[in-house]
Amino acid sequence: MSDSHAVVVGGGIGGLSAALALHRHGWRVTVLERAPELREVGAGLSLMANAVRALDTLGLGPTVRRGGHGEAPGGIRNRHGRWLSRVDATEMVRQLGTTALGVHRATLHRTLREALPASSLHTSATVEHVESDPDRASVRYRTPDGPRTLTADLVVGADGLRSRVRAQLWPQHPGPVYAGSTAWRAAIAFADPVPAAISWGPGAEFGMVPIGDGQLYWYAALNAPPGGHAPDELAALRERFGDWHDPIPALLAGTPPGVVLRNDIHHLAVPLPSYVRGRVALLGDAAHAMTPNLGQGAGQAIEDAVVLGAVCANGAEGLPAAALGAYDEQRRPRSQAVARASVTAGRFGQQLRHPIAVAMRDTALRLTPGRVALRSMARYADWRPPAG
Ligand SMILES: Cc1cc2nc3c(=O)[nH]c(=O)nc-3n(C[C@H](O)[C@H](O)[C@H](O)COP(=O)(O)OP(=O)(O)OC[C@H]3O[C@@H](n4cnc5c(N)ncnc54)[C@H](O)[C@@H]3O)c2cc1C
Repeated sequence: MSDSHAVVVGGGIGGLSAALALHRHGWRVTVLERAPELREVGAGLSLMANAVRALDTLGLGPTVRRGGHGEAPGGIRNRHGRWLSRVDATEMVRQLGTTALGVHRATLHRTLREALPASSLHTSATVEHVESDPDRASVRYRTPDGPRTLTADLVVGADGLRSRVRAQLWPQHPGPVYAGSTAWRAAIAFADPVPAAISWGPGAEFGMVPIGDGQLYWYAALNAPPGGHAPDELAALRERFGDWHDPIPALLAGTPPGVVLRNDIHHLAVPLPSYVRGRVALLGDAAHAMTPNLGQGAGQAIEDAVVLGAVCANGAEGLPAAALGAYDEQRRPRSQAVARASVTAGRFGQQLRHPIAVAMRDTALRLTPGRVALRSMARYADWRPPAG
């Protein structure tokens, strides 16, 4: 294969997955990350069966499984701990072929990083400008040693929610908007066995996910105006969730000060008309930042990477516009459908606050047979990587 070269803008989970997928198909890759160090935030992640399968395709499934905690999601409870919906783990594995996985973000990020040649990873490299013509694309970026330019066969815009690549090449797009909820999260040491599960109260959700090695990831989400903060975030959460069912108060009590992350949830409410412009392809949050209600944002980014690798399998010479067009065709409808479903899941779940609506939803969930609940979950988790 000729020396096909891709520049990947952004060294998050999406960018590293894309770099690895291309590298495995013989491409030379250059990852440009603006942060001085390649790392992920200190919290956990749920990877649904589709994401685990995509990691299998990248050759990392066994390592990530070893580094995380495989378990079927236990289900949904109300804030008093009554189960509204339970997932049958055995049936889930039968239908999807694998459990979901709870993993520390840092573990997944490190696993991806270590699978790439160290020489391909460049930090303190902030991309400022991208250009594309039908055959080549170039990026101009800033480094501590001055500005640089790189020309490549392919540029992958994996620069996240506030993507500069998207803003520049899709200037009509309005960009991300606030989804109406704020989330808090932390990864803590917690040795007691806990099922991966979420709990709903009016306008509120608390989730817990074992992530292996005696660690547990918890998150909380509330309807809230954007831009807020509390003088002591943890104290405010202990107050808000103090009377929720066990082990929620214990998890908050066991969380050390200073480890809680607070994020307003933003997403791309207006879907992009294409993920490809010339020799530039968008991927991950840059292409389809979604609300976290289905636990699919990173999973969709890893799927993007696998499909991008597959359409680029013949190298740059075999990369006619049609190949990147195939990436767009395979990824845009699915990832945008998942993003829409995630918004709906949030409205019906965490964001629902009227007591009558909450009571009706909870009753409907209790009456829904487990196999029906599993089928709706499997709808997005049942993804197969392209053959070959
Ligand atoms: C509260 C919360 C919970 C979530 N839970 C889950 C979950 O359980 N499961 C799941 O699958 N997903 C989850 N997600 C979504 C998931 O975190 C994201 O979808 C995923 O991390 C996106 O990865 P990415 O690589 O596309 O973007 P990012 O992680 O944002 O990476 C982008 C990278 O690009 C770099 N960058 C940006 N601009 C430039 C530039 N100009 N030049 C160079 N580098 C640049 C950034 O520094 C960053 O490193 C959650 C999200 C939130 C907010």
